[in-house]
Amino acid sequence: AIGSHTWLNAPALWDHLKPQALPSQHKYKRGHVVVLGGEVLTGAARLAAQAAQRSGAGLVTIAAPASVWGVYAQALQGCMVQSFTDGDALRSIIQEPRRNVCLIGPGAGALDTTRQAVLESAAAGKQLVLDADALTAFAQQPQVLFDALAALAKPLAQARAVLTPHDGEFARLFGHLSAALGKDKCAQARLAAQRAQAVVVLKGADTVIAAPDGRLCINANAPATLATGGTGDVLAGLVAGLLAQGMPAFEAACAAVWLHGQAAQQVGPGLIAEDLLHALA
Ligand code: AMP
Ligand code: MG
Repeated sequence: AIGSHTWLNAPALWDHLKPQALPSQHKYKRGHVVVLGGEVLTGAARLAAQAAQRSGAGLVTIAAPASVWGVYAQALQGCMVQSFTDGDALRSIIQEPRRNVCLIGPGAGALDTTRQAVLESAAAGKQLVLDADALTAFAQQPQVLFDALAALAKPLAQARAVLTPHDGEFARLFGHLSAALGKDKCAQARLAAQRAQAVVVLKGADTVIAAPDGRLCINANAPATLATGGTGDVLAGLVAGLLAQGMPAFEAACAAVWLHGQAAQQVGPGLIAEDLLHALA
């Protein structure tokens, strides 16, 4: 700890909460993540889904637009791939009771479908990981997202969503409130977490993870080789997988960011996002 409620790196913060695979468990007891697949940038959801698998989640389902069902089904032998042609079909994939976490955003497109998936997942009480286009999709109406996340957090009085913006995504969603804070990344992340009633992972070389209750962790193990396409999608999948296995949102986010950095160190130079999936094992 480097101050009250603030930690640097800090595996000690979450190590005791890491999911354990127990002999008594079957896959339905180890969390079930749904990842929304996009129609154009299909690699992003594939990387995220595989990272969720690597985190130890028992089941991962990709909800795929029917037009690209084969792209996902061909690539991901250990995932379930369910196709949808309209909003009703997507809603019923999301609402299936055993699915406890929805990961939305990587390659999803800033579309109505993406917004609907977020709002319906929150309304269904699912824990959420929102990244990339799921954040950008609400840039014009951030309060709609914040209201949905506040309602999701309320029954248990704890954050049940994790947002994983990079600087650009952060500015699009939170720019209106962070302008006055200048370049103070910790203050920005803290304020954003309070506004959204969600854990905010403000990514970069020095990723900052903030919880609505004021806790904050600065991560400092990430090598610069992570600055390459697809690594953020892997991170989002890791967070989702840990959440699905019962880690609380703040600790799941801190653990995922640290494990992501360690995996990148293990790979070394020449890293591509796919390597992280192997290093995580
Ligand atoms: P994204 O911007 O969504 O592709 O995510 C990129 C991932 O790489 C995030 O986990 C960032 O924290 C990480 N990252 C980006 N640039 C750097 C850097 N220069 N040093 C360390 N990690 C980085
Ligand atoms: Mg990204």
